[in-house]
Amino acid sequence: MRLSEYCRFKPVTNGERLFQFLILNVIGKERASSLDNVSLIQIGGRTDDFADYYAGIFASNLMMRCIKKAKWIDRTDPLHADNNALERHKRELVNYFLTSLEIPKNSLGGNLEQLANYVIDAYRSSKKDITHTVRKQFKRRPDNCYICGVSIDDSSQADQNYELEHIWPQSYGGDSIEGNLLPSCSHCNKEKSHMLLWQNSDVSSFVMMPQAEPHELRSIHKSVRIARHRRLIFEYACSNKLTLKEAAVAIGSVELASPKYIDKYDSIDFYNIKFF
Ligand SMILES: [Zn+2]
Repeated sequence: MRLSEYCRFKPVTNGERLFQFLILNVIGKERASSLDNVSLIQIGGRTDDFADYYAGIFASNLMMRCIKKAKWIDRTDPLHADNNALERHKRELVNYFLTSLEIPKNSLGGNLEQLANYVIDAYRSSKKDITHTVRKQFKRRPDNCYICGVSIDDSSQADQNYELEHIWPQSYGGDSIEGNLLPSCSHCNKEKSHMLLWQNSDVSSFVMMPQAEPHELRSIHKSVRIARHRRLIFEYACSNKLTLKEAAVAIGSVELASPKYIDKYDSIDFYNIKFF
């Protein structure tokens, strides 16, 4: 998927708004297209996939650095310390964009302040946990884990298996709101952890021999399956202009279907498996 296409899904959280702003206005459409055509990797038959890999790693790294910087500033100078704290934070962030991130001053004009606002909003969202009111919206609703499909039920307080999963990770500014949450089993929630894009998972070193046996395919680590599922969700949301939650619901879970290979003559890696 082209980097600029990551902006076609419908954002519902402050983290998603920051992400799309970074791609469209900071990296910029021109640079995003350059990243999509990294000439160095035009060998090996995975050109588009690896271009997507590097672009995703770059975008998510940039985003997390912005949020961590805002967190660090807030620690050293709490936002609510006085009325001028917010303005000081913005100034410090703008300085960070110019010096450490090396965003050219002229490229964004007044948008550096706008970027600082997006970063602060995403940082604030990352601090807010799920409230009782939001949790109640999901209460007493037997459901299936949206990732692996296993049946989960929150009707029993003792059932520790039921968790609400942030579709856009909380650490990346994913708000704890109904539109960004879906029930998942604790195993999937733990495995997905802070995975933002499939690129955040350890997918580059996974390679099996061609025509792997069904039991070998079933042994593919859960984090790789979750990453593949995540890629499907993004692609579906972007091509249909949906929220990630709408796309996740439309696609359904993947664990119950055994992965299959696409090209039987090639080794099996992250790009050579499918679930459907
Ligand atoms: Zn699950």
